[in-house]
Amino acid sequence: MVCSHNNHQQHSHSAPSAAHQDNLMLCPQCDMLVALPPLAYGSKAVCPRCKTTLSARWDEPRKRPIGYALSALFMLVLANIFPFINMRVAGLGNEIRLIQIPEVMVAEDYASMATLFMVFVQLIPAFCMVAIILLCARVRLPLGLKEWMARVLFQFKTWCMVEIFLAGVLVSFVKLMAYGDIGIGSSFVPYCLFCLLQVRAFQCVDRRWLWQDIEPAPRLNRPLTVGRTGMRQGVRSCACCTAILPADQVRCPRCHTKGYVRRRHSLQWTLALLVTSVMLYIPANLMPIMVTE
Ligand SMILES: [Zn+2]
Ligand SMILES: [Zn+2]
Repeated sequence: MVCSHNNHQQHSHSAPSAAHQDNLMLCPQCDMLVALPPLAYGSKAVCPRCKTTLSARWDEPRKRPIGYALSALFMLVLANIFPFINMRVAGLGNEIRLIQIPEVMVAEDYASMATLFMVFVQLIPAFCMVAIILLCARVRLPLGLKEWMARVLFQFKTWCMVEIFLAGVLVSFVKLMAYGDIGIGSSFVPYCLFCLLQVRAFQCVDRRWLWQDIEPAPRLNRPLTVGRTGMRQGVRSCACCTAILPADQVRCPRCHTKGYVRRRHSLQWTLALLVTSVMLYIPANLMPIMVTE
């Protein structure tokens, strides 16, 4: 692990020249301006104040994510073509494939659930894997399309719910075991591998590196002091591509994401949502979650 603390001491009183701006980064957690040291393969830079990982330099930054993403896609295909679970209840045997789940849900009048399943468990994860492959392999694509893909990739990251679906399946397993024979099909293991591989593929893509690879960060025509927060210097970090932008610039010129130094009423919103969730947590635990007949 490389800590950027030494560099921060070196630069802390001199305004870095334009050439140095490439190494600067605002900590996404605590807003401290940090000068990143040159990273060796396999090491990462952490914020000297809050220890958040700022950037990581992977061995084989292209081959590694491409390999994981390709394997994940292959596992997803396998998971869709073979039976996922089979059950024998009251003498009746039945098996279901992953691809049939939406069909069954629509037939049972759960069209909204079927849509959620298709979008969050199949389409978004598959899109993210394809995006990782295309971006890391440096496939010749229009710059606008690459920017869009990278932006959507990082926005979709939180919406990949493959492991949440797996957790749901396991809970239902336990519940249904009381009623009959439930067995895993031959696509269950590929699905579990898909969950692991897609997480790993995301892990191997460093946000800062990927954006730097697509397009250099926009230049900032003002001196910055390392070791002070961005807010005190009138700059902010782009939440999507980590570029340092003037505080009053709403849209990032590199990734076109909108952002603000401070979200309006963020403390009030956080508190309101937190209190509501705590209130809902009580009935969620006291009332039945599933009724089986
Ligand atoms: Zn920090
Ligand atoms: Zn940006």
